[in-house]
Amino acid sequence: MAILKVARLGHPVLRQVAQPVDPASIRSPGVQRFIDDMIQTMREYDGAGLAANQVHTLKQIAVIEVLANPRYPEAPEVPLMVLVNPVVTPLTDEKEEGWEGCLSVPDMRGMVPRHTSVHLTCLDRAGQAVDLIAKDFFARVIQHETDHLNGIVYLDRMRSLATLAHIAEWNKHWLGIREQSD
Ligand SMILES: [Zn+2]
Repeated sequence: MAILKVARLGHPVLRQVAQPVDPASIRSPGVQRFIDDMIQTMREYDGAGLAANQVHTLKQIAVIEVLANPRYPEAPEVPLMVLVNPVVTPLTDEKEEGWEGCLSVPDMRGMVPRHTSVHLTCLDRAGQAVDLIAKDFFARVIQHETDHLNGIVYLDRMRSLATLAHIAEWNKHWLGIREQSD
């Protein structure tokens, strides 16, 4: 496995639309290795998810995982998921604001409105159909990652850039917690 280089804001690949993956190729060694590399890269950089565009590949593949963190016991856990050719349909008009960051927009946070409930269909890494309803934080992560596959970053979804903050200032002024030096 390998840790892949992550494209940062300004790289054109983040603004391009990823192409669907041929379902017959999902189980091939090349696609499986790419998925493993995406998972390793997401974990290396403590991302909640990673889309293929972010690692310079225009394929409709995203990975998602949020593990329990003892420092943030209330943060919801999302099990490891591999999304191939995802289709996301909002189930509510209602949107909720929440903080997001992005490995392609390093050290920044912003308040982003997202649908609170979405219907997701996709294939998993075995090529099996996935069909589920996601809510709240899980729905947010799915929307963030599938946006990437369509060339959209979270900044495009912000109602106002007034909450866009560097992580150090965000910790001080928005969370009331000073950055940990350890
Ligand atoms: Zn992102």
